[in-house]
Amino acid sequence: MHKRLFTPGPTEVRADILKELATPQIHHRSPEFADLYAQIQPKLQKLLYTQNPVFLYTSSSTGAMESAVTNLVAKRCLNLVNGAFSKRWHEITEGNGVPCDALSIDWDQAIKPEMVDEQLKTGKYDAVTLVLNETSTGLMNPVERIAEVVNSYPDVFLLVDAVSGMAGVKIDTDAWKLDFVLAGVQKAFALPAGLAVAAVSERALARAAQVLPRSYYFNLNHIYKYHKKNQTPSTPAIPHMFALNAQLSEMLSEGIENRFARHAKMAEIVQAWAQKNFDIYPEQGYWSKTLTCIKNTRGIDVPNLIDRLAEEYNVRISNGYGALKNETFRIAHMGDTQMDEIEGLLRAIDTILGL
Ligand SMILES: *Cc1c(COP(=O)(O)O)cnc(C)c1O
Repeated sequence: MHKRLFTPGPTEVRADILKELATPQIHHRSPEFADLYAQIQPKLQKLLYTQNPVFLYTSSSTGAMESAVTNLVAKRCLNLVNGAFSKRWHEITEGNGVPCDALSIDWDQAIKPEMVDEQLKTGKYDAVTLVLNETSTGLMNPVERIAEVVNSYPDVFLLVDAVSGMAGVKIDTDAWKLDFVLAGVQKAFALPAGLAVAAVSERALARAAQVLPRSYYFNLNHIYKYHKKNQTPSTPAIPHMFALNAQLSEMLSEGIENRFARHAKMAEIVQAWAQKNFDIYPEQGYWSKTLTCIKNTRGIDVPNLIDRLAEEYNVRISNGYGALKNETFRIAHMGDTQMDEIEGLLRAIDTILGL
């Protein structure tokens, strides 16, 4: 029996979108492919409020994170770290031999614009990595205000991992002047894993042309060259692209503002429930709109709750991430999940826990 996913990635994929993966195969150097690629482009630009090209990577999000730091750091990168994925971005930067430093703060605290300003004042950095929505802790960093600070330093680029936020919350790419904003599609896009997308600014492409190449598969100049022909440098995950194209059309017919409002409403319901019965892990004011990380203040047996939800209700939620494994549990309210499904999940938990 299928277990319906309420996990913060991968998320549940609707059956009619899964069927798109079975579209007969086309050749990636054919006009049919270029047409598919060209159809996807304006829809992604609309979703991201941008005129920038949006590249498609046949990789998970980690590949796009690697692409950002290997192409766009000429001098030194500042990695802002307040959770597992921002920590990973620091490891990716370091692991590729890119000069960098981490600014690490407690995982239940948001990155504040002043902290970033203090670091950039040193003049050491020409790029900053930021995770919009820390999936490990259910915390949303104030990206717009951080962008304002970064933009006051003309040579510093802002690179944003928006993996579990994109397609669930508004990302005003051009207004906030984001140089690189990426996501994998298995989170709020509600698609199977295997593709990542990234909007890349003009000045980022100009810098990528100057920086000595550190990566072949993730080389931005190479990707851009093919992008202009509505192609990818190597054979992409074409079935996923059919699914992405169909899902983007669904999002636009729902209305992207409506989609964001639905996410905000689901977050409100889950967070009110969490506050009534438990507590919420990150500091107030920075709770995520796409998932909630619930603090296990009742000392419940988290693995047991997860097992019973799977066995008795055919639904799956997540435990805490890493060190927070049994201290928290996480409910995703992102993608195509509807209000009644979230209500049903909460009632199932109430029943199991006798709340
Ligand atoms: C899931 C996730 C990642 C890693 O994604 P992969 O697709 O597994 O590479 C990175 N950052 C954030 C914020 C995530 O939620």
